[in-house]
Amino acid sequence: MQFEPKQPTAKGPAELFTGDVHFDVIARGDAPSRLRVNLVRFSPGARTAWHRHSLGQTLHVTDGIGLVQARRGDVRVMRPGDTVYTPPGEWHWHGASADSFMCHLAMWEDDDATWGDHVTDDEYGAAPIDLRG
Ligand code: MN
Repeated sequence: MQFEPKQPTAKGPAELFTGDVHFDVIARGDAPSRLRVNLVRFSPGARTAWHRHSLGQTLHVTDGIGLVQARRGDVRVMRPGDTVYTPPGEWHWHGASADSFMCHLAMWEDDDATWGDHVTDDEYGAAPIDLRG
């Protein structure tokens, strides 16, 4: 058994995120495991830049109200308990809504996410689809 003490919270770099984003590394498997789990906290309005994961990514919202969008898709509201899977290679972004913090677990397996442009205010401000609104 390994007991993993809490690691310091890290700030998401401005090249990859808009606004204040902090993350805690929950798990990082030693090879051959590819397990990667982070707990990520977004301030209101904060979001990732556009990016993709070569082996996909699963997000699970634990708190607050979030937004997520795949390229050419609608902006979608995500709420605590929601799980969103982005398949390998799909460009997307995720973040908090404009007026709420959002916290999610991020689970993925690759170490080579590809990062693109920041999400513009126009992209971020598009009317989100809220299936539980
Ligand atoms: Mn992602």
